[in-house]
Amino acid sequence: MKDQSPNSWEARADAHSFYGFTDLPTIENRGATVLTHGRGPYVFDVHGRQFLDANSGLWNMVAGFDHAGLAQAAKDQYDRFPGYHAFFGRMSDQTVMLSEKLVEVSPFESGKVFYTNSGSEANDTMVKMLWFLHGSEGHDQRRKIITRKNAYHGVTAVSASMTGKPYNSVFGLPLPGFLHLTCPHYWREGQPGETEAQFTARLAAELEEMILREGADTIAGFFAEPVLGAGGVIPPPEGYFQALQPILQKYGIPLISDEVICGFGRTGHTWGCEAYGFVPDAIISSKNLTAGYFPMGAVILGPQLTQRLQAASEAIEEFPHGFTASGHPVGSAIALKAIDVIMNEGLAENVRRLTPYFEAHMQRLLENPNIGEARGKGLMGALEAVQDKGSKTPFAAELSVSERIANTCTDHGLICRPLGQSIVLCPAFIFTESHIDEMFEKLEAALKQVF
Ligand code: PLP
Repeated sequence: MKDQSPNSWEARADAHSFYGFTDLPTIENRGATVLTHGRGPYVFDVHGRQFLDANSGLWNMVAGFDHAGLAQAAKDQYDRFPGYHAFFGRMSDQTVMLSEKLVEVSPFESGKVFYTNSGSEANDTMVKMLWFLHGSEGHDQRRKIITRKNAYHGVTAVSASMTGKPYNSVFGLPLPGFLHLTCPHYWREGQPGETEAQFTARLAAELEEMILREGADTIAGFFAEPVLGAGGVIPPPEGYFQALQPILQKYGIPLISDEVICGFGRTGHTWGCEAYGFVPDAIISSKNLTAGYFPMGAVILGPQLTQRLQAASEAIEEFPHGFTASGHPVGSAIALKAIDVIMNEGLAENVRRLTPYFEAHMQRLLENPNIGEARGKGLMGALEAVQDKGSKTPFAAELSVSERIANTCTDHGLICRPLGQSIVLCPAFIFTESHIDEMFEKLEAALKQVF
């Protein structure tokens, strides 16, 4: 319960913090959880309460909250060279090494990297790159961007327009020219009697119809998360990218894989596109890129886009875009360390090892009459709550059942995320079997209380 005294942390948080992405009735009743520190996958609040974080922060703290190597990499670089941009012909040695590493671990034979401070900015940057290169190639009208309903690509005006969430209408978004296809969620969107393969074929046909209706020469690019993350952890239906990519290629539309969540190990593969067997034209990366120890995003361009953007830039002698902290040396040093930690110190391997154990727990929860679907990939999963399983009828929105489950989990010392009608679990890559057991024990105790 909320500490009502005027000098409580909760009251102080309310007084001067403008909350984003926060359910205000929950804050009104319970107050903000004010955190002081973390140990491994646990975080601790000002009252000394301990929480197992089943969210990895916001999908990003994959190495836990006290990784000595990452903190040391940051400290060493702060001591050596605390900050610089990557423009005007200058950049730090760390940034040079990071670009080499990112191209090396990318699915591309060659490529180039551009840095931002966040995933939203990386998506914005990619859209500007597409507009820039199509314009330079004499196709000024190629400006429309296609994404999917329920996709999440960020919060800046452009990336929020790409995001297919209804809540963005409060901002008057999407901007014109941002188009959204059906969410590729077979369980919810599949028609009665339709097989998964038929569902995929229908979505591919929908893409082609949209391209022809809008005019192929008006489309700048197609962006997709390999697994929709903030849309509620929705893996694509069978053969989805294999069906869509040839259509995009036929009409000269670049395919951009938004790997802000899926990248660097979350699915059990280095990239989500690798997990689903396709090679995109560019990758958007953030979050795990620095294991959450520095705000950083990156656009990783494949060979064709690199060459075309290089030509477009040379035509006007520069690419006029960048952020003050693009290619920050501390971020670059941390990212180099994070990639090493994830790929070479057993974290990615641990995701692969733990996935069957995690999935078995998820599937077991389907025995609960109010859990309609248990879905996921690697160490990301969602449990969708339903009032009636047979008809998949959701709970009435005003009950906000997932919010109640998540709040009850907090009371049990577990942080998990309510998303729509689903509870999302995306543990850190350092979880062990006993953390998974603890996570599900606490979640099941909360489910018993709520249903
Ligand atoms: N793209 C995806 C797939 C994301 O999940 C997110 C954030 O959750 C973003 C982009 C935006 O990243 P940021 O919050 O760093 O701007």
